[in-house]
Amino acid sequence: MCTDLNGLAYATVANLKPGDIVTCDIDFGCFVPGQRKRIMKSKAQEDANWPLYIRCKHGKHFIEPQIDESRTFYIGIYPT
Ligand SMILES: [Zn+2]
Repeated sequence: MCTDLNGLAYATVANLKPGDIVTCDIDFGCFVPGQRKRIMKSKAQEDANWPLYIRCKHGKHFIEPQIDESRTFYIGIYPT
């Protein structure tokens, strides 16, 4: 199941890349849900496995924790 309850498709691990614009419907508390956000890529060595993040008021908000258990898509993150 790669869609939410409304049938909207989540961003996929295979397709999401730096520079893409996404929206998030989860309130992480550090940026406004629904806001358009650009996918960034960390160059830090320790982030090499899952380097993608979006900017939030704390700095880098890594999106790897949103990956579902089948490692296919990002829960709550939508391509635009
Ligand atoms: Zn954050």
